[in-house]
Amino acid sequence: MTTRSYPQFRWPSERDLVPTHCDNCQKWLLRQETPTASYPTVDVVCLYCTRVACELITDALPPRMTPAQFRALPVVQARRGPQSAYSPDPAEAARLRLLAYRERQRALGVSR
Ligand SMILES: [Zn+2]
Repeated sequence: MTTRSYPQFRWPSERDLVPTHCDNCQKWLLRQETPTASYPTVDVVCLYCTRVACELITDALPPRMTPAQFRALPVVQARRGPQSAYSPDPAEAARLRLLAYRERQRALGVSR
């Protein structure tokens, strides 16, 4: 796990929290660019001492999920729909394909 030495802020929803002055040298921070959907993160760098003051992340990106939120996600559902005609036994697979074929024919109203 990496430790980050600078805070991250959402842009523009957390723009009020973005620092205006460098923690290190107290110079005024010049915000040169803001993040966009195609360029979602931007570092705010102090032009005097080159220290990264914070990172801006665009609101266009969904916030990163916390581990608790991830665990709360529903378990991936099994595939739905008609059962596959695949079977490791070729004879059983052929029987399933035949049954499916007759089912389709019956649905189409074809009499045999
Ligand atoms: Zn500085």
